[in-house]
Amino acid sequence: MSEIKENIYRDFGICDEVYAYCSRIADELSPRFQKIDEIAEYNQAKVVRAMQEARVSEECLNGTTGYGYNDIGRDTLEAVYAKAFHAEDALVRSQIVCGTHALATALFGNTRPGDEIFSPVGLPYDTLQEVIGIRESAGSLKEYGISFNYVDLLPDGSFDYEGIRNGINERTKLVTIQRSRGYASRHTLSVAEIGDLIRFIREIKKDVTVMVDNCYGEFIETIEPIDVGADMIVGSLIKNPGGGIAPVGGYIAGTKKCIENAASRLTAPGLLKEVGPSLGNNRLLYQGFFMAPHVAASAEKGAIFAANIYERLGFEVAPNSTEPREDIIQAITFHDPQGVISFSKGIQKAAPVEAYVTPEPTQMPGYSDEVIMAAGCFIAGSSIELSCDGPIREPYTVYFQGGLTWYHAKFGIMMSLQQMIEDGFVKKEQLV
Ligand SMILES: *Cc1c(COP(=O)(O)O)cnc(C)c1O
Repeated sequence: MSEIKENIYRDFGICDEVYAYCSRIADELSPRFQKIDEIAEYNQAKVVRAMQEARVSEECLNGTTGYGYNDIGRDTLEAVYAKAFHAEDALVRSQIVCGTHALATALFGNTRPGDEIFSPVGLPYDTLQEVIGIRESAGSLKEYGISFNYVDLLPDGSFDYEGIRNGINERTKLVTIQRSRGYASRHTLSVAEIGDLIRFIREIKKDVTVMVDNCYGEFIETIEPIDVGADMIVGSLIKNPGGGIAPVGGYIAGTKKCIENAASRLTAPGLLKEVGPSLGNNRLLYQGFFMAPHVAASAEKGAIFAANIYERLGFEVAPNSTEPREDIIQAITFHDPQGVISFSKGIQKAAPVEAYVTPEPTQMPGYSDEVIMAAGCFIAGSSIELSCDGPIREPYTVYFQGGLTWYHAKFGIMMSLQQMIEDGFVKKEQLV
């Protein structure tokens, strides 16, 4: 078996040393992968139970057009999300264009002029900075008189409880907690850590709304942030919960009040959740959510594999090869822009779609630095599929994520390593 695998990888230009090195590391990881499979097995059952309890029927898989009144598929899907995430209600819509749009909808809907938004975990993800107005932008929350304040984590990665206490004031209306690291160097929060933080914040201000940016975190643990007290969780359907099948969309799950506020912003006051055709997407959104626990587990395995492959070659990886995982993102730091570019080229060469193109750094809407992205995806820009991206700035870190199957994630990392060798960043002799 090993030999026929070796042969097909050879067809892709993967040398025997890379194959042997990667295979050995993959073998060593199997006890850890077994634990990931157990979480996925639990989450699979959780999703099926939500679908059964919501009484998903064949009719739900059809769609509506126009206003989308009485779209039973859409309404039932929202009930499925609410049940799976233990929320009172949810908005799961194709009209939510991406994660940033979902987060903006949740923030605009749940704040009013004069309110303040507070982040106890540092600056939020790049694209949210324009939504909030940290970077000037027409139509930002700041222009509507909604201010923003934040404190960073302490240098050791723990919460700055003193700073948080001082950062919350009488105007603080909404606390935003980003679970995943995004493009920051801090660690990704575990759901238990988020729970500790929420408990502390509620002691200071009981009635504050707590929103968690759940991007990339869904189904990595057996609990989600609502289980530890969040009012609202928000994410993108072209990441974990879409299972690689949802062609577009975002979700917000949370309390009735939070969802109503968000719906009035997404559609219009008064129209709320009653409008919004699902078009032809219902079946894909159900199927994607059904696949999501398995897909998230595959991507997580890929991330752990990448950490092990690159850490042993002397690169800085975060999380490291043995740390517990809270999302599917793997950061690898090269301290050289060419390292980021080489790695990305290798990933692109493993793609099922457009493997023949060469990724290059470019300016992207919402980002302040040039960004390089490798993604040969079935769904444009889908980062639950094998992909990597990174802003071209110090310390030149690439963020690798996704892989709809573990085999594809593994293949992608092998191709990246082969490319790093060909471009002179790694020597074959190091592969021991
Ligand atoms: C991906 C992501 C977002 C939203 O990004 P979109 O590209 O708009 O979907 C927000 N926060 C975090 C932490 C993310 O990873």
